[in-house]
Amino acid sequence: MSSRLNDHLTEGQLETLRDKVMAEIERIENKLATEKTHMEMANSGRDEVDSANDDIIKHAELRFTTRETLYLKKLKKTLPIFDTDEYGVCEDCGAEISFQRLMARPTSTMCIGCKEESERDELQSFHGRRSKSLGQQVNLTARV
Ligand SMILES: [Zn+2]
Repeated sequence: MSSRLNDHLTEGQLETLRDKVMAEIERIENKLATEKTHMEMANSGRDEVDSANDDIIKHAELRFTTRETLYLKKLKKTLPIFDTDEYGVCEDCGAEISFQRLMARPTSTMCIGCKEESERDELQSFHGRRSKSLGQQVNLTARV
């Protein structure tokens, strides 16, 4: 008999999910490294590019990189949770998060009920916080 907090998941399922998180980290790190090389190459060939067009491309790249960087941070935060018995347990209400949900989104730390509630809250304050959080994201990317 297992007395793990997350004993609705088998050892095998946990192993599968941990592998998935590690594979995602590797995939994104490779992608970001490639992006960085592309941006450096684009910068070195700057003179030939129309500068307005260049700005649009850079903004699109920045948005993409920011999103991926945030996801990467989330994945890296998720990894150590596998060493506890709390992976797959809702951090809000302690409910079990199903294997299917975790496979679809291995960084889930909340059950569907709590997630929907927190997304509603986020949506409500989204407009007020928008410009501020965008500024923070840009700073975050610049530091990486
Ligand atoms: Zn919950």
